[in-house]
Amino acid sequence: MSELSGTIFNIQKFSINDGPGIRTTVFFKGCPLNCLWCHNPESKKLEPEKMSAPLYKHLFSFNSDPDQVGFNVSSSLLMKEILKDYLFYEESGGGVTFSGGEPLMQSQFLLELLRQCKAKDIHTAVDTCGFAPYENLLKVSEFTDLFLFDLKIIDDVDHIKYTGVSNKLIHENLKKLCDLSCNINIRIPLIPQITDTQKNLEAAIELISDLNIKDVTLLPFNEIAISKYKKLGLGYDMNCLSSQKDEILDEVCQKFRCHGLQVKIRG
Ligand code: SF4
Repeated sequence: MSELSGTIFNIQKFSINDGPGIRTTVFFKGCPLNCLWCHNPESKKLEPEKMSAPLYKHLFSFNSDPDQVGFNVSSSLLMKEILKDYLFYEESGGGVTFSGGEPLMQSQFLLELLRQCKAKDIHTAVDTCGFAPYENLLKVSEFTDLFLFDLKIIDDVDHIKYTGVSNKLIHENLKKLCDLSCNINIRIPLIPQITDTQKNLEAAIELISDLNIKDVTLLPFNEIAISKYKKLGLGYDMNCLSSQKDEILDEVCQKFRCHGLQVKIRG
């Protein structure tokens, strides 16, 4: 049988924000959503693409074209890279996080990497937008220690307006993963006037509490994406927005804590 390969666009070493301990985060290319605020616009298309300036210089050993973002890599080559930091995972209680884009867009490749990580007893996390066939999520769940599950907008009309897809499948998948007793951390991007509204946050708290999930991570808006849009030659509708102030973030955290949820803010 030939070896599986997939398309990724970044490998971030010594990551401390994508699950417990010190981690390697692998960013898959391709996403079924089209969020207006996306911080990784280079992740949306499945195939490699050109940028006007290099984005990830540290990847030149994999990707020799400086202006290309995204490259094909075999599971064995990627595992070799992941295993270089095995000692750090062991010492820190860390592991590997598969993110994107949406890693479940390449579910066979994801599954193979998860299998290989678990065979080496490496902690695994999958960062997902939840928009994937349930049967794929189910297969992946067998080898996933932690789901970082994104919830964006609870109102379906607004979800379609800002991400391009309905949230029905996402909510159904979340409920099914809860029924399987998967370990889930909900991640909410705080986009000014879109996801950080009182109405949306209250609806998110209700949904999370009903599912008996305890861990929530809030992702404040940041402006780093602007330069990426420029390098891709794309317009960015969010460039007039700025990060939430600390006092606003404290208030939002308090709302979640009042409902017994453990909330943290990703730096
Ligand atoms: S789900 Fe994430 S990667 Fe996909 S478009 Fe939305 S923000 Fe970007």
